[in-house]
Amino acid sequence: MAESGSDFDDVSTPLARAAEHSVLARSGALADRHRTERPESTRVFVVANQKGGVGKTTSTVNVAAGLAQLGQRVLVIDLDPQGNASTALNVDHHRGVPSTYDMLVEGVPLAEVSTPCPDVPGLDVVPATIDLAGAEIELVSVVARESRLTKALAAHPLIGGSEIGPDRYDYVFVDCPPSLGLLTLNALVAGREMFIPIQAEYYALEGLGQLLETVEMVRQHLNPTLVVSTILLTMYDARTRLAAGVAEEVRGHFGDQVLKTAVPRSVRVSEAPSYGQTVMTYDPGSAGALSYLEAAREIAQRGAAQ
Ligand code: ADP
Ligand code: MG
Repeated sequence: MAESGSDFDDVSTPLARAAEHSVLARSGALADRHRTERPESTRVFVVANQKGGVGKTTSTVNVAAGLAQLGQRVLVIDLDPQGNASTALNVDHHRGVPSTYDMLVEGVPLAEVSTPCPDVPGLDVVPATIDLAGAEIELVSVVARESRLTKALAAHPLIGGSEIGPDRYDYVFVDCPPSLGLLTLNALVAGREMFIPIQAEYYALEGLGQLLETVEMVRQHLNPTLVVSTILLTMYDARTRLAAGVAEEVRGHFGDQVLKTAVPRSVRVSEAPSYGQTVMTYDPGSAGALSYLEAAREIAQRGAAQ
């Protein structure tokens, strides 16, 4: 009899990789086999692009789940009043549930508003309720309105260096709304690495100038440590010349910041949220899940941006 798992030792073909991820993710053994080194201190990513529908939420939840499957401790903060990340991660986000709103506007500690994602061990979530829609305006009159999230992260006992011990979060992902208002500003001030998903389509680069100007403004006045460390091409259709052209343009512009892995357009990715799941658990062997796992691995292997 073959030893358990040895059927999948040859992961050189896409089919073998798919089978391996599928089986290991279902048995929960992925983290043991592919344990990835943990970073020296918590890496805080801001997933932003003021364009809607480019894959911010999809990339947040799937990269976060991928990192958790690789043995990392991960926290996702849903900063979009629509609560799509909360839905995909299967956490309650009805009005009244402790949420991002309570943390940002009421000053409730981050540790008191996070809850475990029921389907992905090692992944916690701060849900967004509809209350957050009002926060953009309510925050205007609040003291130090742009650094509320910074303060909340700094006060969390599990965010920081290796002295914290094994329970420490290795990654925090903040899923931003499709605008450059006070919510996104809070994330840009609090984060260290910016993660920009770019949809591989004709207007891909439109609006990026404005986003990068905002980043520069934040660097100069509010958060000098912010860097655009990670760009991910999403909804990539390898059959079209257009997608290849866009990818080339984005790589020409951003160079090494662009992950080698591009995420293909895939029905499995788009239907997973309607089952309250990430594609990483919904269909771990699918091309979308494997790409997101590969993107997660790339992010971990590159290490924190300098
Ligand atoms: P954003 O958060 O930037 O608004 P989403 O992550 O919500 O964008 O994605 C927008 C839409 O595109 C969603 O319906 C999502 O399911 C779909 N989508 C995202 N990535 C993919 C993909 N790789 N393949 C197919 N559909 C995708
Ligand atoms: Mg979104």
